[in-house]
Amino acid sequence: MQDNIASIASDEKRVVARTHDPRCRICRSTLRHTFVDLGMSPLCESFLPAARLNEMEPYYPLHALVCEKCFLVQLQEYVSPDHIFSEYAYFSSYSTSWVEHARLYCHMIKERLRLGPNSLAVELASNDGYLLQHFLPLGVPVMGIEPAANVAEAARKRGVPSLVEFFGTTLAERLATEGKQADLIIGNNVLAQVPDLNDFVAGMKRLLKPEGVITLEFPHLERLIAENQFDTIYHEHFSYFSFVTTDRLAKLHGLKIIDVEKLKTHGGSLRVYLAHATSSHVPSPRVSALLDHEIESGFGEIETYARFSEQVRRTKRNLLSFLIACKEQGKKICAYGAPGKGNTLLNYCGIGPDFIHFAVDRNPYKHGRFTPGMHIPIKPVEAIDEAKPDYLLVLPWNLKDEIVHQMRHVGEWGCRFIIPIPEVHVIDPARGVS
Ligand SMILES: [Zn+2]
Repeated sequence: MQDNIASIASDEKRVVARTHDPRCRICRSTLRHTFVDLGMSPLCESFLPAARLNEMEPYYPLHALVCEKCFLVQLQEYVSPDHIFSEYAYFSSYSTSWVEHARLYCHMIKERLRLGPNSLAVELASNDGYLLQHFLPLGVPVMGIEPAANVAEAARKRGVPSLVEFFGTTLAERLATEGKQADLIIGNNVLAQVPDLNDFVAGMKRLLKPEGVITLEFPHLERLIAENQFDTIYHEHFSYFSFVTTDRLAKLHGLKIIDVEKLKTHGGSLRVYLAHATSSHVPSPRVSALLDHEIESGFGEIETYARFSEQVRRTKRNLLSFLIACKEQGKKICAYGAPGKGNTLLNYCGIGPDFIHFAVDRNPYKHGRFTPGMHIPIKPVEAIDEAKPDYLLVLPWNLKDEIVHQMRHVGEWGCRFIIPIPEVHVIDPARGVS
């Protein structure tokens, strides 16, 4: 007997069917093992306008499970992607270093694949055109596919043609039938957000020319575990990948991994190069080296994953102890940045306006709004200079070098930066790490 329970809000189609018998998103095995349970949390991109502060706010379980067969770390899908992504608050171009990362990639990959005026580069979840824009002066035709209409519109204004659609086999089939197949498919930080992984990967295979290449970038699960990056777990990120699991997913769909690079982005990512299994591309020795490394590190054993929970609880206690000590001394703390992952950290640790005076963000969409759950007000960056806090809690810690550099003037009044992950530590802009 199926013990699926039906959607509890089918009229809105926002809350999707959930199950007491969750199955793996890749291999359909029953999920029995907890990776980490971060309790109940609101959607991390649901920044609230003041008018909604007194309304009920939906919370969903933030309970990551791990599959004992393919070791995919995953959340159940509680909220349908069209609700999450139809108006997305994240504009990639607000991060200077991320745009530069994209620019360097475009120059590198154009040379490596010898892309030219007859090629087609397609980016899935192309956001505001932060990446594809760099192909335009290089003379490489591009197409963006982006489900959020508001960010796709920003891309079009940059001259990047963008389809406002969800990607999967249906769209890939349609494009392929129209003669639009890709020499290069780019998926940066999108794989985690795909509810139907198998349909998405099958779609990439359909869209790819016989000798084409796919590059995917995603945070590496090995770094997430090694550096306590539990705050990168949120409802919009359904899946968390090791290289071992990625290899399994590729093989399942008639693809092969032909190369892999380690990147510093998002706390430590992988850039994985894939091609048709039948193509002439020869895999680099780096592929088997990383697979061997992960197997030796225990990524093929369930116990490795089960240990993560206690590590996360300890990180929470240490951060709270530090913040409580600051408040006992009467210090004023503001948060720099209000990224999605900041809200996992704030909600899981219970850090609200009692600790954080206010948060600032470079994204004007968030100004005047409040963080989901904790309701910390978000202001423009200039508000820091007026409030002159003693500490800035850096929530997008993956950009800490960029932020500490941009905001180093706060040292003039003795303000210091608190970096919460991997372990709480303080950076004095005048003196470096302490
Ligand atoms: Zn599985």
